[in-house]
Amino acid sequence: MSLFPTYKRFPLTIESAKGTTVVDDQGNEYLDFVSGIAVCNLGHRPPAVQQAVEEQLDKLWHVSNLYQIPLQQEAAEFLTNVTNLDCVFFCNSGAEANEAAIKLARKHTGREKIITFTNSFHGRTFATMSATGQEKVQEGYGTMLPTFEYLPYNEMEALKDLQGEDIAAIMIEVIQGEGGLVEGKASFLEAVQEKCRKLGALLIIDEVQTGIGRTGAPFAFQHAELDPDIVTAAKGLGSGFPVGAMIGKAPLAESFTPGSHGTTFGGNPLAMAAVKATLETIFNYHFLQEVKEKAAYFQEELQTRLLPLSTVREVRGQGLMIGIEVKGSVPTIIGELRGQGLLAVPAGTHVLRLLPPLNVSYEELQTAVQQLESVLKQTKAADEEELSSNR
Ligand code: PLP
Repeated sequence: MSLFPTYKRFPLTIESAKGTTVVDDQGNEYLDFVSGIAVCNLGHRPPAVQQAVEEQLDKLWHVSNLYQIPLQQEAAEFLTNVTNLDCVFFCNSGAEANEAAIKLARKHTGREKIITFTNSFHGRTFATMSATGQEKVQEGYGTMLPTFEYLPYNEMEALKDLQGEDIAAIMIEVIQGEGGLVEGKASFLEAVQEKCRKLGALLIIDEVQTGIGRTGAPFAFQHAELDPDIVTAAKGLGSGFPVGAMIGKAPLAESFTPGSHGTTFGGNPLAMAAVKATLETIFNYHFLQEVKEKAAYFQEELQTRLLPLSTVREVRGQGLMIGIEVKGSVPTIIGELRGQGLLAVPAGTHVLRLLPPLNVSYEELQTAVQQLESVLKQTKAADEEELSSNR
């Protein structure tokens, strides 16, 4: 009991990993379709990132943000070049990136209220937990920060009724990851943006899970007609090196001046080396084109092979962020997939989430389809048995 039991861990100890394959302490190999939950977008230990970090290890590990760090500028340019945004604040996680966004929105607008959505997930700090529209995340912590209000996701009517000159920002995920892999409709997302403009509020898009090529674009908001004021990123940004970023429009810079926000570790040279090498590969037209093609193939195979099964309700998602809504028990299915050599995680209560590395091969995608088909077929049999024994 030397650790707080904050995680319900799978009975699996991964000892080593390379590319799409992880190896456990018994020497068993698994195809990793979790990628550390959308972190290892280039697979495990991608050579270019490993080399960049190793070179940086020999030069400089850490220096205070009170000194010039040219690597931060270089890494930031990758993020500003692919978005319509201008300035980056580097931190260490998704929650910290959202925390920075919340603080900046409040300071810049002079307003306090932030609108988020039911079933959203924005992090575990007090402000980002308050922003998260899920009671189970907030349970036991007493009164949440009072300046957050939640609207139902994808519901136009509630959005239409939203009013108030005290709203600093609307914060939204383009696809709700933790909330069950629910895609925001383009028309809804565009209406959220329109509402922001009407109310003089900022549009914050949380791309912590959807960003860094996961959906086949650098950021998922780029699939719709969106022009956010702030975008947050983390997970895939450093290929497993802990790093987060808040990216915003130029006028916001006047509200984040010396002393107004900061961090000891954020933007440290090792993290920046990992970010640069990661984005050099992922923010490349041909790489992302391949992700889109592979994703289209994978989604079509999943639809064809899984939808006829009585346990499968829906296959959905964008790019290589995929949810399979099932009727059986998700933890049981995940355990059985692990037994077949495939790692997957849940999203919400009845969705199986697949997040393969973006450089996964067609053969590996086909292997996963077969493993999923075989397990989900058995799940159906188990359910029927259960049903008949209940009769
Ligand atoms: N925002 C979204 C959309 C996420 O999916 C997550 C983590 O799952 C976070 C924020 C929090 O990120 P972190 O765990 O790095 O603090």
